[in-house]
Amino acid sequence: RVRTRFAPSPTGFIHLGNIRSALYPWAFARATGGDFILRIEDTDLERSSQAAVDVILEGMDWLGMNPDEGPFYQMQRMARYKEVLAQLQAAGHVYPCYTSVAELDALRERQMAAKEKPRYNGTWRPEPGKVLPPVPEGVQPVLRFKNPQEGVVAWDDKVKGRIEIRNDELDDLVIARPDGTPTYNFCVVVDDMDMAITHVIRGDDHVNNTPRQINIFKALGKEQPVYAHLPTVLNEQGEKMSKRNGAKPVTQYRDEGYLPEAMINYLARLGWSHGDDEIFSRQQFLEWFDLDHLGRSAAQFDEAKLRWVNAQHLKAMSDEALAALVAPQLEKRGIAAADLADGRLPRICALFKDRCDTTVALADWAYVFYADAISPSAEELEKHVTGAIAPALDALAAAFQSCDWEKSAIAATFKQVLTAQGLKMPQLAMPVRVLTVGTAHTPSVDAVLELVGKEKVLARLQKR
Ligand code: GLU
Repeated sequence: RVRTRFAPSPTGFIHLGNIRSALYPWAFARATGGDFILRIEDTDLERSSQAAVDVILEGMDWLGMNPDEGPFYQMQRMARYKEVLAQLQAAGHVYPCYTSVAELDALRERQMAAKEKPRYNGTWRPEPGKVLPPVPEGVQPVLRFKNPQEGVVAWDDKVKGRIEIRNDELDDLVIARPDGTPTYNFCVVVDDMDMAITHVIRGDDHVNNTPRQINIFKALGKEQPVYAHLPTVLNEQGEKMSKRNGAKPVTQYRDEGYLPEAMINYLARLGWSHGDDEIFSRQQFLEWFDLDHLGRSAAQFDEAKLRWVNAQHLKAMSDEALAALVAPQLEKRGIAAADLADGRLPRICALFKDRCDTTVALADWAYVFYADAISPSAEELEKHVTGAIAPALDALAAAFQSCDWEKSAIAATFKQVLTAQGLKMPQLAMPVRVLTVGTAHTPSVDAVLELVGKEKVLARLQKR
């Protein structure tokens, strides 16, 4: 049974690059009928925050990427890490190292000066027949993992292909600090082992950790999982996406009116492909997803493209479903829930969805239909609502009083007034649009007026 995981560190608000690292393991679990596990790697106490955890949980919930197990928190598993550490130590895979930080720094400087790769020199590594230096007094040692010195570590990366690293290129990793707390690479292995992870799908910034983690798996007598290291997601400037260079938290896209379906569709294509298919549903994605079509090169985020994908999904949604997304936004803006239930909202969505690429844009339109008063742009008022058109507007308002409030009757009344006043459609329709919905750029005026409602139309026509 396939078991995958997403293991974010809550050291900042997760952005689209991070969430894409969750999307593939989630999809792979779903596509194979496996399990998807969420693990919060919160051991960096200084940089981790509850607010960052909340964005992870809310973002995943919004996108419907629900874990089958978890969230697990590494800070709650310390006792377990120490237990496994003791096992490794008992089996001779771990040794105390008393080299001080100052000595390590000096060593590094010498190595750099000699143009060598900085690495621990093995002073405290026990070997048969080797005499270790005398243990200095009052120094708490770190624990180092006794990395094999011969042979290679290898894996068939599902993205990068076969990778082989010579063991003599790896030095002995610190796996516990002087205070006994386990370090990152060790915790990851214990977790992946305990959680029975079969496929580690993660960002390729971890590719250097993998040979070290594999060696720890081996020392624990466990088989290594399958690895897939995903290429980076670049921002629009071509830099690695990061909160430091302005990447938005994933939940901000929810607040900006993006649809979860569209987000998943867009992110899916940012590093994976299914032929030329560009627009697809969550269901299709989960059926199609495989590890064989992951891209090998970095993908670049393109917000305009995301908006376009969102618009495609928005257009394809039913008017009722859109209304259900728009209604809470209007309530937040002060429209009473009872008013929103008057049946107009799905029809308003139908009329405007082709012009909108987010639900927020759609809500902006819909708001005008429910607001007590609107404020048309001064520029459009000046351009369209001229003194010359005032008599025609009065005539229209008068004729509307006795008009049956329905699209075709509204259109007929409009025509009568045009004929009587000797005007062409746009001459009257433009000012009417500006006065009733705030702008001259709308779908057909009769459809719009019907949905604004007679009472509001009359009040707004008079307010000039
Ligand atoms: N916590 C790591 C990160 O956020 C991921 C570790 C892993 O997937 O193994 O980059």
